Amino acid sequence: MRKILIVGGGTAGWMTAALFGKLFQGLYDVELVESEAIGTVGVGEATIPAIKKYNELIELDEAEFMRRTQATFKLGIQFVDWVEPGHSYVHGFGVIGQDWEWLRCHHYWLQAHQRGRARDLADYSINTAAALANKFMRPRPDMAESPIGHIAYAFQFDATLYAGYLRGLAEQHGVRRTEGKIVDVRMHGSGDIASVALEDGRVVDADFFIDCSGFRGLLIEQALKTGFVDWSHWLPCDRAMAVPCERSEPIAPLTRATAREPGWQWRIPLQHRTGNGLVYSSKHIDDDAAERLLLANLDGRQLAEPNRLRFTSGKRRRMWNRNCVAIGLAAGFLEPLESTSIHLVQSAAIRLVRLFPNSATDQATIDEYNRQSDFEWERIRDFIVLHYWANRREGAFWDYCRTMALPQTLERKIDLWRSNGRIFRENEELFSEESWIQVLIGQGIFPRSHDPLVAIKSDAQIDQFLGNIAATIGRCLNVMPSHDEYLSRYCPADRIR
Ligand SMILES: Cc1cc2nc3c(=O)[nH]c(=O)nc-3n(C[C@H](O)[C@H](O)[C@H](O)COP(=O)(O)OP(=O)(O)OC[C@H]3O[C@@H](n4cnc5c(N)ncnc54)[C@H](O)[C@@H]3O)c2cc1C
Repeated sequence: MRKILIVGGGTAGWMTAALFGKLFQGLYDVELVESEAIGTVGVGEATIPAIKKYNELIELDEAEFMRRTQATFKLGIQFVDWVEPGHSYVHGFGVIGQDWEWLRCHHYWLQAHQRGRARDLADYSINTAAALANKFMRPRPDMAESPIGHIAYAFQFDATLYAGYLRGLAEQHGVRRTEGKIVDVRMHGSGDIASVALEDGRVVDADFFIDCSGFRGLLIEQALKTGFVDWSHWLPCDRAMAVPCERSEPIAPLTRATAREPGWQWRIPLQHRTGNGLVYSSKHIDDDAAERLLLANLDGRQLAEPNRLRFTSGKRRRMWNRNCVAIGLAAGFLEPLESTSIHLVQSAAIRLVRLFPNSATDQATIDEYNRQSDFEWERIRDFIVLHYWANRREGAFWDYCRTMALPQTLERKIDLWRSNGRIFRENEELFSEESWIQVLIGQGIFPRSHDPLVAIKSDAQIDQFLGNIAATIGRCLNVMPSHDEYLSRYCPADRIR
């Protein structure tokens, strides 16, 4: 193993290249081929807190990265009209309240809720309460006893600027960039990939290939015919349309996902503009009507023509096949409802580093990589499906979602939750118990009961426990700066118009 070729220079290609450049420290020759003529998808703008692990690995300077990518902070996602029109809730990152003896906070909240004494769940999450008040600060590690020590955050950034920024880092670490359109993929007699041929006649060979070529899956699908596992019966949206508009003030530290007749609309506030998009089902609305729906719901002046995209939800049958690993859209697509695609890029690249083989076709390593990837993708899929299924909305699209048969893994989780309000995070599944709890409660799926050990405490004790948490969070909000203030102090970007 001497040479690694990354095919594609979108978010996936440059995230992988920056990580490999940094961690492999010249051990391998890393080259990236991309084609400006083909371009990138360039719409992935909202992330989840796990991205900070990637940032640490590549030793990224957070304030500089935010300035360079027009980034804002993100404390969670607000789901508007998902259960039914007029209803909204926030999936805030981080913890809800605090454990009391060995029970999670939400068991006490469920008891109080059942007896009509609980406040909104949002009042027990510093992330949600701050997001709704447009407040932000990074956590203070010296305040572990306070909710301020537990603020969890991610970023919203301009995807094109992000890829460009990572390209700079990767090149500093010795990754070579080749501009050119790949017109042929050449194979060894064994069936492994040998090289790619460019339009101008150059041939680039390597021992190991990372396919970051986007939806087309140039290596993993077009050359290796790996196959695709189609999940569109669970995630029926198959189109998206993205359009930027002028920013509006204040800049919210959260992504908004508003349910629409045939899907949903995102709103991602950045420093220089707001990103918007509609994710929809082509069976339920045509593209022109979708465009009118999207443009009628912008809260600032439209800044560009809508970018139309088509996709099928699902993943490659194998993410690693022969001497090729697919990362990013080449590996599959789970729609951006919970902002997980960039995370899947990062976790695939980190997994590959952790399982990096001596020989490109070491089968035991390949099987383990694929097993871990499948588990991760399936659990994220279940989490997204939950949002669609748990709805009381009207219309053919939402009726279909409400009545579809669920994946067994999700059904098991919901059954356990319904019996006693318990959720367990399995192995390295991405979403925490708090995430599941907020979305289940937010979508109106309540358990029949709570953990029986709640009964050890009296109602008065529980009221005092919950009241103290809400009051402490309220006091924290009083001392937190607004998100706008924090941005202008910590990472003010050039306001590009
Ligand atoms: C509608 C939508 C919304 C999204 N929102 C989010 C979000 O909010 N958060 C999130 O985390 N993710 C989001 N994503 C996902 C995110 O955009 C992608 O995961 C991310 O951009 C990775 O894309 P990519 O690099 O795999 O592919 P691309 O951006 O398509 O890049 C492909 C690269 O391959 C190159 N290439 C292709 N063919 C050839 C060829 N023949 N020769 C040479 N080069 C070639 C292209 O030039 C390009 O450089 C969203 C995706 C979509 C579709």
